[in-house]
Parts: sequence; structure tokens; C-alpha cells
Amino acid sequence: MSHIVIIGAGECGARAAFALREKGFDGRITLVGEEEHLPYERPPLSKDALLHGHAPKLVSDAARYAEAGIAVLTGVTVESIDPTAKIVQLSNGTSRDYDQLLLTTGARPRPFPGLSGANHRIRTLRTHGDTVAIRAALQPDTHLAIIGGGFIGLELAATARKLGAQVTLVEGLPRILSRGVPEEVATVVADRHKAEGAEIICGVKIQELSEDRDGARIRLEDGRTIAADLIVVGIGAVPNVELAQDAGLVIDNGIAVDEHLRTSVPDIFAAGDCCSFPLRHYGGRRVRLEAWRNAQDQGLLAAANLMGAGEAIASVPWFWSDQYDLTLQIAGLADGTTQTIRRDMADGAFILFHLDAGGRLIAASGIGTGNAVARDIRLAEMMIAAGVRPDPVALAAAETKLKSLLAA
Ligand SMILES: Cc1cc2nc3c(=O)[nH]c(=O)nc-3n(C[C@H](O)[C@H](O)[C@H](O)COP(=O)(O)OP(=O)(O)OC[C@H]3O[C@@H](n4cnc5c(N)ncnc54)[C@H](O)[C@@H]3O)c2cc1C
Repeated sequence: MSHIVIIGAGECGARAAFALREKGFDGRITLVGEEEHLPYERPPLSKDALLHGHAPKLVSDAARYAEAGIAVLTGVTVESIDPTAKIVQLSNGTSRDYDQLLLTTGARPRPFPGLSGANHRIRTLRTHGDTVAIRAALQPDTHLAIIGGGFIGLELAATARKLGAQVTLVEGLPRILSRGVPEEVATVVADRHKAEGAEIICGVKIQELSEDRDGARIRLEDGRTIAADLIVVGIGAVPNVELAQDAGLVIDNGIAVDEHLRTSVPDIFAAGDCCSFPLRHYGGRRVRLEAWRNAQDQGLLAAANLMGAGEAIASVPWFWSDQYDLTLQIAGLADGTTQTIRRDMADGAFILFHLDAGGRLIAASGIGTGNAVARDIRLAEMMIAAGVRPDPVALAAAETKLKSLLAA
């Protein structure tokens, strides 16, 4: 009986395992994950799970894995892959042979340069255990210092303010969200954090982080020192590629896959945060995405292609972030923008549409409360996928239905 082993029991690996069954795969499926929990959703870790102390939000419960005949090994690391013998070695001393392999090993927080060893007051946020530890340290009036003004740092800042903690966020670049978010949108986010009482310091490099029994400190290059009870470092993520690299797979800012998610070894696929892939709507440019829906979509696509469907990646990148009652959504990739069109909506919400030199819509970034921008961002995504060149005047006018531009 054919055996598919999936390495990495996160969003992507779990979705792929169920999709294999839904598509009729009747061989053996083994899902191996080094975390203690069954696969769970990461987005709540910086939001509701941190705020309320929720248990991990599982992708599926144990009964459903059993019903689907998916063998899940939790708390087990795959230590090596032998692509010639087609065997994986596990940390529990056993091994599994496979016919096809799917790597969904995800990513891990980028470590702060020069910081090593166990740090109790200097942490990162990626797993449920991290959320539990950060929540335990966040009492009202705790001083939390966050390094990095990206999504995770900012979501953590918002939740920590809701929990009554004092928050200082330090970003080395001149503004927050400088990767992929237009300045107009980032300004709304920054202003909201300031209005909620979070302090945001931009454009200052960090010289050193340190901790002792009484607290943690950030020494800035401009001579200032920030004393805090807890520091959380949120300076991006690095893909977990070492296993693949040791097995001889090609690595290129992630495990390199083709448009079918196939790695450089034909019977090994990779998907989700760990892989880089060519993006059809952007001239085949190779990207690596760290986004929840991408992990889901690629899990489904990998399942189809493990079964020989030969389907190509066709989705448009999409990401959301919730901070306070604001939701920010981004579809597409904005680099290459030559013209930006602003569309104002009710209650201060707005969307920026990004057009390239040929007038093609390549990205849309929106911000507003609740679901204010969701529908139009969804339509923008469809326009990007369809290669639409919308009339900029119509795009800016709130009364124009985006559906009509999509149809045109
Ligand atoms: C705090 C937080 C908030 C987020 N919020 C949002 C959001 O609001 N919107 C959004 O779009 N995205 C968000 N994301 C990103 C999203 O959660 C990720 O893109 C998604 O989880 C990626 O799924 P994945 O399965 O590819 O990787 P992961 O979720 O990282 O799962 C990979 C799993 O593989 C395991 N593994 C690695 N190597 C091995 C090995 N050798 N053997 C066994 N197991 C292994 C890892 O331990 C991990 O459990 C957030 C992420 C975090 C951390």
C-alpha cells in the first residue's frame, strides 16, 4: 500500500492530510510533528489565545484524524531523510519508509543577533507554549518591550495593551510595517497604537539586549536604555529548511519548489511557510509567504499533486492582521507599483490599489474596522488574478462597484 509521510504537523500539513483523504487517496498517511499538540491555528496566538488564555485551537480533533485513517505522531521530530532509500529517521528511534514525502516544516522566529542560551525575559512568539509563557508574564502594569514593528509585534502590542500592560515597541527602520505595507496604511496603525497608549520608537538601532533576575534591558545605539519586565523579539521568521538541505534538496530562500510544489527530488513536495515558489501572476517571480491562507491553499494543492493532478499554483497572496478593532488586509504584491489609487469607504476605512506601469492591478491594501474592507479586497484579489487593468478614476470612486470593473 502506498505511503505518504508528511513532515510538520501545522496548518499546512494537517490540511494536506485531510485533503488527501477527501480526494480519495486510500494508502497510508503519516503526519509527524515535533510539537506536543495536534496541529493548531497560529493566528490566535497573538490575538484571542493570548488575551483569554484559550487552549490551542485545533485544526481538527483526534477523533477526526482517527476516522480519516491519518496516523499522527506528535512530539516526534524527523531527524533525517534518505531520499535514495526513501526512509525518514524519527527522534523516537524508529523510522518510516515512504513512497512520497511532503515537507511542511514551517518557519521559526528569527533570533536576535548575538543572543544565545535560555532567556526567560527575552522571548519570541511562534508556538502555543510561547503564548502561555508571555501571558503568564503579562500582568496589568507589566512593562513589555517589543522588538520589531511587523505584524506579530504589533498584534502582540495591541493584545498586551488590552491586558493592561505598559508597551514599548522598538523598530529599527524609520517606520513600522515597512515590508509590504504602504505608508498611509502603516500610519493609521501607528496612530491607533499611540492612541491606545503604546509607545512606538522607530529609526533606532539596538545595541544590546540583556536580562537578569530583576528585569530585561534594551540598550539603544542613541544611548537610551529601556528597562522592561519582558522583551519579545519579533523580527521575522526563517524557514525550517535544514532537514531538506541535509537531504540534498535545492534551497532558495526556503525549500525551492516548482509551480506544482515539487522539490528538486521528484517524489518530495514542500508547501506552506517553509517553501519558496514561482508566482504566476508576477512573472514567475520566486517568493516565500508566511500567511495562513497560503498554508491552507498549498496544503490542498500539494495533496492534489501528490495524487498526480499536476495543478499549478494559481492563488494571489493574501494576508490579514487584527489589531484592536482594526483589520488590515493585503492582496497581491505591491513592489512594482507605479500608480496608487485611494478609495475611501464608510467610517474612515480605505483601500489603496496598486497599479504597475502597464496599468495592471497588482496589489490592494485596505484598513478599517471589522470586515469593512473584506469584500472589496476579495474582489481586488479576483481582479489581480484576472490581470485586470481598471480605470483609475472608477477605482477611486466609492460608488463604482468593483464587480463591474472585474467584469470589464
Ligand atoms: C503569532 C502568529 C500570528 C499569526 N497571525 C497571522 C494572521 O493574522 N494572518 C495570517 O495570514 N497569518 C498569520 N500567521 C502566519 C500563519 O500562522 C502561518 O503562515 C502558518 O501557520 C504556516 O503554516 P505551516 O503549516 O506552513 O507552518 P507551521 O505552522 O510553522 O507548522 C510547521 C510545523 O512543523 C513542525 N516541524 C518543523 N520541522 C519538523 C521536523 N523536522 N519534524 C517534525 N516536525 C517539524 C513545526 O514544529 C511546526 O509545528 C501568524 C503566525 C504566528 C506565529
